[in-house]
Amino acid sequence: MTTATASTAGATRAAAPETLRNYIGGRWVEAAGAQLLDVPNPATEEILARVPLSTADHVAQAARAAREAFREWSEVPVPERVKVLFSFREAFLDNRESLIRGVTTENGKIESDAAGEYRRALEVIEFAIGMPTLMAGYNVESVSRGIDTMLERYPLGVTAAITPFNFPLMVPLWTLPIAIAAGNAFILKPSERTPLSATALARLLEEAGLPPGVFNLVHGAADAVQAICAEPEIDAVSFVGSARVAKIVYEACGRAGKRVQALGGAKNHIVVMPDAVVKPSVEGLSESAFGNAGQRCLAGSVLTVVGSAAETVLPRVIERAESMRLGFGLDEGVEMGPVIRPDSRERIHTFVQQGLDQGARMLRDGRSKVPDKGYFVGPTLIEIEPDSVLAREELFGPVLSVLRADTIDHAIRLVTDTNEYGNASSIFTSSGRAAREFRRRNPAGMIGINVGVAAPVAFFPFSGHRNSFFGDLHVTGRDGVEFFTRKKTTTTRWF
Ligand code: NAD
Repeated sequence: MTTATASTAGATRAAAPETLRNYIGGRWVEAAGAQLLDVPNPATEEILARVPLSTADHVAQAARAAREAFREWSEVPVPERVKVLFSFREAFLDNRESLIRGVTTENGKIESDAAGEYRRALEVIEFAIGMPTLMAGYNVESVSRGIDTMLERYPLGVTAAITPFNFPLMVPLWTLPIAIAAGNAFILKPSERTPLSATALARLLEEAGLPPGVFNLVHGAADAVQAICAEPEIDAVSFVGSARVAKIVYEACGRAGKRVQALGGAKNHIVVMPDAVVKPSVEGLSESAFGNAGQRCLAGSVLTVVGSAAETVLPRVIERAESMRLGFGLDEGVEMGPVIRPDSRERIHTFVQQGLDQGARMLRDGRSKVPDKGYFVGPTLIEIEPDSVLAREELFGPVLSVLRADTIDHAIRLVTDTNEYGNASSIFTSSGRAAREFRRRNPAGMIGINVGVAAPVAFFPFSGHRNSFFGDLHVTGRDGVEFFTRKKTTTTRWF
């Protein structure tokens, strides 16, 4: 049975909600005239802060400060730039506990998930510290008689990141350390639903001695995003969020002549073969579907059970869903947190109802048996047909839609044909052939083999495709370094 727990983590509650400030040119400034939005803890509904919805003027202020800072920062030798990142890493380590608790409090994910997010964020900082070698160019001596050619990488200029609510610490750090280590100035526009981790990051960068204006924080929502896309002083934009907004940002940046990488939504398939090792497969796919309350862009949301896996694996996943304890993620024993807002919960309920109206069969209903306070949806499993709305739409909640297939070929067809996304996809099997076919024919950019959440480490690119990604160069890894640098070749002849 799912059990609802009341929150006991009162120690984390602020007395009166603070109004957040932007951080521009090394100063904490009020976003004058901006509309304010409440930021609740989604598990307890307590108001944590008020976030300003900055306007185009605030974005322009940040862009000017960033441009000015870029002139000097891009002249600082790269070994000195990464020394600031060493200090930032120290500050990040020293503040580990509060950063993790902060993520749980503003986002709702449980403490162990927040700790995983923290670890992945740290990885990118550590990757970017390698910038003196990552930025290295190459050369060919004697491309012709007496002529040499060399390639160098230069920083781009002013770059901006627009980030989603679901990884408030990690997603800003997918780009920030790489961009600044490469010599760029940076503007962060975090999600207005989780602005507090970004504020904590700005404080740590300040403490680390990053020169004023190299990092700027502008709170806000759609208006600030439109201003970023149109702002002539901003050279490149990294966006992470839903496919709908990713496409808007990609097109707007294209029109404005900016470099852009726009990571969109997902509808990730998991396939379980009859030869899968049952226990770790159940654990791995349940974690994928219900971890972070299904609010991961790598969350498994369609499960295809092949042949007898319907009898060996599926009932245990249902049992696992039944046993999950819901509540505030800092409370003892809680295994799943809420979704981010009441409208997310309503959206999930609406899609589930549409699926049922189309003939889907409920296997485990998570719409009731949830805590009274907070925006909870319990783990839900529902058997569908391939043409169901639940096979196509991203729900972004703890709902696992189940399909049946007879063979690996049938399962792969379901993966490729039922929706337009291509972020991640996992298979649980003991067969090398099935795994190989799955990997090769799958349109997703991140494949898991007996791994439910196939998130690559920071030195690989986060490589979604189709409607999960608009652009060429992905975030992190060598792609990240390429994105934040401009290449130049010099061809030399001496007389
Ligand atoms: P979202 O698209 O609602 O918001 C993302 C950002 O865009 C926020 O900063 C928000 O302020 C801004 N925004 C929202 N509406 C806008 C509009 N109309 N015009 C301009 N800007 C707007 O996404 P979200 O709900 O915060 O995050 C969840 C989504 O992000 C899911 O779809 C998830 O799959 C996706 N996501 C993708 C990845 C990936 O790597 N592909 C990673 C994390 C999250």
